[in-house]
Amino acid sequence: MTPPRLLLVLAVVTAGCLGSYDEGLLDGYCPPEVLPMIINAEDDVDPAAVTEAMEIWNKAAPSPFFAAGEPAAIGWVEVWHEELPENKLGDAQMAQDADGAIIACQVRLTPWWEADGHTLAHELGHCLGLAHDHTVDSIMHSPPADPSWPLAADIERVIEGCP
Ligand SMILES: [Zn+2]
Repeated sequence: MTPPRLLLVLAVVTAGCLGSYDEGLLDGYCPPEVLPMIINAEDDVDPAAVTEAMEIWNKAAPSPFFAAGEPAAIGWVEVWHEELPENKLGDAQMAQDADGAIIACQVRLTPWWEADGHTLAHELGHCLGLAHDHTVDSIMHSPPADPSWPLAADIERVIEGCP
Protein backbone atom coordinates (compact mmCIF):
# COMPACT_ATOMS: atom_id res chain seq x y z
CA MET A 1 0.00 0.00 0.00
CA THR A 2 1.27 3.50 -0.75
CA PRO A 3 1.69 5.64 2.32
CA PRO A 4 -0.95 8.30 2.83
CA ARG A 5 -0.19 11.62 1.22
CA LEU A 6 2.04 13.70 3.41
CA LEU A 7 0.58 16.95 4.58
CA LEU A 8 1.97 20.21 5.75
CA VAL A 9 -0.57 21.07 8.37
CA LEU A 10 -1.13 23.77 10.91
CA ALA A 11 -3.44 21.73 13.06
CA VAL A 12 -4.33 18.08 13.27
CA VAL A 13 -7.11 16.65 15.36
CA THR A 14 -7.49 12.93 15.81
CA ALA A 15 -10.85 11.56 16.72
CA GLY A 16 -10.46 8.14 18.23
CA CYS A 17 -13.80 6.53 18.08
CA LEU A 18 -13.83 4.75 21.39
CA GLY A 19 -12.28 7.71 23.14
CA SER A 20 -14.02 10.63 24.75
CA TYR A 21 -14.59 13.59 22.57
CA ASP A 22 -16.72 16.56 23.52
CA GLU A 23 -20.07 17.24 21.99
CA GLY A 24 -20.42 19.75 19.21
CA LEU A 25 -18.13 20.93 16.49
CA LEU A 26 -14.41 21.51 16.42
CA ASP A 27 -13.62 25.16 17.15
CA GLY A 28 -13.51 27.28 14.05
CA TYR A 29 -13.97 24.31 11.79
CA CYS A 30 -15.78 24.70 8.51
CA PRO A 31 -15.89 21.91 5.91
CA PRO A 32 -15.87 22.89 2.24
CA GLU A 33 -19.17 22.72 0.38
CA VAL A 34 -18.48 19.26 -0.97
CA LEU A 35 -15.73 16.97 0.32
CA PRO A 36 -14.17 14.77 -2.38
CA MET A 37 -13.70 11.16 -1.23
CA ILE A 38 -10.69 9.11 -2.26
CA ILE A 39 -9.96 5.45 -1.53
CA ASN A 40 -6.27 4.70 -1.30
CA ALA A 41 -5.66 3.19 -4.73
CA GLU A 42 -3.74 0.16 -3.45
CA ASP A 43 -6.01 -0.58 -0.51
CA ASP A 44 -8.94 -3.00 -0.42
CA VAL A 45 -11.51 -0.75 1.24
CA ASP A 46 -14.89 -1.77 -0.14
CA PRO A 47 -16.06 0.94 -2.57
CA ALA A 48 -19.67 -0.03 -1.80
CA ALA A 49 -19.14 0.88 1.86
CA VAL A 50 -17.68 4.22 0.81
CA THR A 51 -20.66 4.91 -1.45
CA GLU A 52 -23.08 3.90 1.31
CA ALA A 53 -21.34 6.16 3.82
CA MET A 54 -21.48 9.13 1.45
CA GLU A 55 -25.18 8.49 0.81
CA ILE A 56 -25.96 8.26 4.52
CA TRP A 57 -24.79 11.86 4.87
CA ASN A 58 -25.88 13.18 1.50
CA LYS A 59 -29.48 12.00 1.96
CA ALA A 60 -29.70 13.78 5.31
CA ALA A 61 -28.06 17.01 4.15
CA PRO A 62 -29.77 19.88 2.31
CA SER A 63 -27.06 19.58 -0.35
CA PRO A 64 -24.46 16.80 -0.72
CA PHE A 65 -21.53 16.90 1.73
CA PHE A 66 -19.49 14.25 -0.12
CA ALA A 67 -18.73 13.23 -3.69
CA ALA A 68 -16.39 10.73 -5.33
CA GLY A 69 -13.20 12.70 -5.77
CA GLU A 70 -9.98 13.08 -7.61
CA PRO A 71 -6.61 12.84 -5.87
CA ALA A 72 -5.70 16.32 -7.04
CA ALA A 73 -8.70 17.88 -5.33
CA ILE A 74 -8.11 20.21 -2.41
CA GLY A 75 -9.98 19.45 0.77
CA TRP A 76 -10.33 15.72 0.43
CA VAL A 77 -11.06 12.63 2.48
CA GLU A 78 -8.85 9.58 2.03
CA VAL A 79 -9.80 6.14 3.37
CA TRP A 80 -7.56 3.14 3.96
CA HIS A 81 -6.99 0.18 6.28
CA GLU A 82 -4.49 0.28 9.11
CA GLU A 83 -3.98 -1.66 12.34
CA LEU A 84 -5.15 0.73 15.06
CA PRO A 85 -4.30 0.81 18.76
CA GLU A 86 -6.74 0.13 21.59
CA ASN A 87 -9.08 -2.04 19.50
CA LYS A 88 -10.39 1.00 17.70
CA LEU A 89 -12.61 0.34 14.67
CA GLY A 90 -11.57 3.53 12.98
CA ASP A 91 -10.42 7.06 13.43
CA ALA A 92 -10.25 10.29 11.55
CA GLN A 93 -7.49 12.85 11.35
CA MET A 94 -8.50 16.30 10.32
CA ALA A 95 -6.04 18.91 9.12
CA GLN A 96 -7.12 22.53 9.16
CA ASP A 97 -5.55 25.72 7.92
CA ALA A 98 -5.31 28.85 10.07
CA ASP A 99 -8.85 29.88 9.08
CA GLY A 100 -10.31 26.58 10.19
CA ALA A 101 -10.95 25.32 6.67
CA ILE A 102 -10.29 21.64 6.09
CA ILE A 103 -7.16 20.73 4.19
CA ALA A 104 -7.74 17.02 4.43
CA CYS A 105 -9.29 14.27 6.48
CA GLN A 106 -7.63 10.88 6.67
CA VAL A 107 -9.86 8.01 7.75
CA ARG A 108 -8.31 4.76 8.92
CA LEU A 109 -10.35 1.59 9.30
CA THR A 110 -9.03 -1.40 11.17
CA PRO A 111 -8.43 -4.41 8.88
CA TRP A 112 -10.14 -6.88 11.24
CA TRP A 113 -13.48 -5.12 10.99
CA GLU A 114 -15.39 -5.55 7.75
CA ALA A 115 -16.47 -1.96 7.77
CA ASP A 116 -19.94 -1.20 6.52
CA GLY A 117 -21.20 2.19 5.50
CA HIS A 118 -22.27 3.08 9.03
CA THR A 119 -18.81 2.69 10.54
CA LEU A 120 -17.36 4.84 7.81
CA ALA A 121 -20.23 7.36 8.03
CA HIS A 122 -19.35 7.86 11.71
CA GLU A 123 -15.77 8.69 10.72
CA LEU A 124 -17.01 11.00 7.96
CA GLY A 125 -18.93 12.87 10.66
CA HIS A 126 -15.56 13.66 12.26
CA CYS A 127 -14.33 14.81 8.83
CA LEU A 128 -17.25 17.25 8.86
CA GLY A 129 -15.97 18.54 12.20
CA LEU A 130 -18.41 16.75 14.46
CA ALA A 131 -17.39 15.38 17.83
CA HIS A 132 -19.10 12.51 19.61
CA ASP A 133 -22.68 13.04 20.70
CA HIS A 134 -24.52 11.39 23.57
CA THR A 135 -27.79 11.14 21.62
CA VAL A 136 -28.11 7.39 21.22
CA ASP A 137 -29.45 7.29 17.67
CA SER A 138 -27.00 9.86 16.35
CA ILE A 139 -24.38 8.52 13.96
CA MET A 140 -21.91 10.44 16.15
CA HIS A 141 -22.70 8.42 19.27
CA SER A 142 -19.69 6.42 20.47
CA PRO A 143 -19.71 3.51 20.43
CA PRO A 144 -22.11 3.74 17.50
CA ALA A 145 -25.59 2.30 17.81
CA ASP A 146 -26.51 -0.06 14.99
CA PRO A 147 -27.81 1.36 12.80
CA SER A 148 -27.63 5.06 13.54
CA TRP A 149 -28.09 8.07 11.31
CA PRO A 150 -27.17 11.70 10.97
CA LEU A 151 -29.83 13.58 12.94
CA ALA A 152 -31.15 17.02 12.06
CA ALA A 153 -29.06 18.34 14.96
CA ASP A 154 -25.91 16.78 13.45
CA ILE A 155 -26.59 18.45 10.10
CA GLU A 156 -27.30 21.79 11.80
CA ARG A 157 -24.01 21.63 13.68
CA VAL A 158 -22.07 21.12 10.45
CA ILE A 159 -23.81 24.01 8.72
CA GLU A 160 -23.72 26.34 11.70
CA GLY A 161 -19.98 25.83 12.02
CA CYS A 162 -19.49 27.91 8.90
CA PRO A 163 -19.54 31.70 8.86
ZN1 LIG B 1 -15.72 8.69 16.63
